[in-house]
Amino acid sequence: MMMTLQRYDFDLIYTPVKYIVLADTLSRAPELNSGTAENTAAEDIETHINMVTASLPASDTILQQIVKETAKDSMLHKVSHCVNNGWSKGVCPQFFPVRAELCMSKGLLLRKNRIVIPQTMRKDMLHCLHEGHLGVEKCKRRAREAIYWPGINKDIEEMIEKCDICLRHHYKQVKEPMLVADLPTAPWQKVGTDLFNLYGKDYLLVIDYYSNYPEIAQLSSTTAQSVIVHMKGFFARHGIPQCVVSDNGPQYDCGEFKEFAKHYGFKHVTSSPLYPQANGQAEKGVQIVKRLLKKAKDGKTDPHLALLSYRAAPLECGASPAELLMCRKLRTTLPQLQPGRDNNNWINNKKRLKIRQKMAYDRATKSLEPLCEKDTVRIEGPNCWDRKATVLSEVGPRSYVVETEDGHKVRRNRRSLLKTHENTDKHGETESEKQNDTPNAHQAEPNTTASQMTEPIRRSTRPRKPPERLIEKV
Ligand SMILES: [Zn+2]
Repeated sequence: MMMTLQRYDFDLIYTPVKYIVLADTLSRAPELNSGTAENTAAEDIETHINMVTASLPASDTILQQIVKETAKDSMLHKVSHCVNNGWSKGVCPQFFPVRAELCMSKGLLLRKNRIVIPQTMRKDMLHCLHEGHLGVEKCKRRAREAIYWPGINKDIEEMIEKCDICLRHHYKQVKEPMLVADLPTAPWQKVGTDLFNLYGKDYLLVIDYYSNYPEIAQLSSTTAQSVIVHMKGFFARHGIPQCVVSDNGPQYDCGEFKEFAKHYGFKHVTSSPLYPQANGQAEKGVQIVKRLLKKAKDGKTDPHLALLSYRAAPLECGASPAELLMCRKLRTTLPQLQPGRDNNNWINNKKRLKIRQKMAYDRATKSLEPLCEKDTVRIEGPNCWDRKATVLSEVGPRSYVVETEDGHKVRRNRRSLLKTHENTDKHGETESEKQNDTPNAHQAEPNTTASQMTEPIRRSTRPRKPPERLIEKV
């Protein structure tokens, strides 16, 4: 009305109705409901409340209990006083921002169509909301239709973060982007190794990450000693690599192998158990060599010639493993000229291919937040996330040693560790109590700001391609 009247310059004069000869429409408009204006307003609220309570998924007994508990709740008592007698700043700051939406009826405090739940019943109500162990967003949506208290969204998040059943059946974590450390820059710098068994015989495989050149040896036994002897043979031929990657097999995870690494001066990196992807090169090498040997046996051909042909056959980048490793072509049974080739060309091709592979791989991945010492986690089991543990230390890229509740120390990849907020009950409660004193308690989410800081904002989804001059240095 004030907005409409702003256009006019007027004087307001009060005239009792008996002096107004021509009745105006406003005061004489026929009323459908008999009774005073105040009564009508009360009736409106009444109708609204009846509608709300009828549509609420709460039984009469629960409603009665809420009425009873609301009367006992000192905070809600203050709020209802404010609702009836007007608000002043500083009283009930948690309810102040939503004061326009509050009303009282039949002993229930309502915020629009939601019942305000007294403190004592909030825990039970959270459990009701989480019936069926639905996710955070679904629970919040359910709450939005029925119940309210300041900070309810945060309470829902906290409850689900700590729910044992939900954690146990958490989704698998997404793949992480390929590590750039997987791309060596020179031949025989980084090698992968693994053992395999074929037709009852044990073999040792060492494969170069750069050239895919495989070396294999038949083992008389699978002891560390036997493995080390054959490895020394390979290293005498090609030189000592800077880094050897293996799984945690007993041949590699022992004092003898540690001594060997120290003596020969190479870094020994082991993959997290149950995460063979981290030793992917060796796993792939084993598959390739096994298939070659099986085919040679089935076709009754020379297995050594089969290996030679693999080493001499061009890879996707245009050069063969032997060319990449030794910068020369190997003579095979195939008649062939020996033209000189530009070495740099293949290397660039190879780098470009690797980068393209990384980009394709990274498209369906997401970086997981690094873990810190004393973080609480769940370990991925065969079917579910059933074991709780505490992080002790990071022992390799994305690989952590954690201690389970029964005191076992195990090592896992980051993807098999789910960060949780369990075992922080006491801490969490005091924190939320503290925050509840401030009006915007439920908006404070320290985690979001932290993750926003580590993840730079990027708007375009187009794959990033580094300029040519940077590719050279990768
Ligand atoms: Zn749950």
